[in-house]
Amino acid sequence: MQLFRCPFCGTRDETEFHYGGEAGNARPEPAPETAATDWARYSICRAIPRVPTREIWVHLTLRRFSSWSATA
Ligand SMILES: [Zn+2]
Repeated sequence: MQLFRCPFCGTRDETEFHYGGEAGNARPEPAPETAATDWARYSICRAIPRVPTREIWVHLTLRRFSSWSATA
């Protein structure tokens, strides 16, 4: 079991959280006009940096999104 720290509720069990993706990975808009290569770049082709990154997580019981630093 892992414990995550919610900035609003404090320390909680990891099962209360859901990963929301990489912070700063902007979704291409408008969706119907986005080229397949741009969708692939957004959803599949990600750089894997060897530096600390930020991730988006949602605390499911609170229903609020937050971003946390993650280490590579
Ligand atoms: Zn919370």
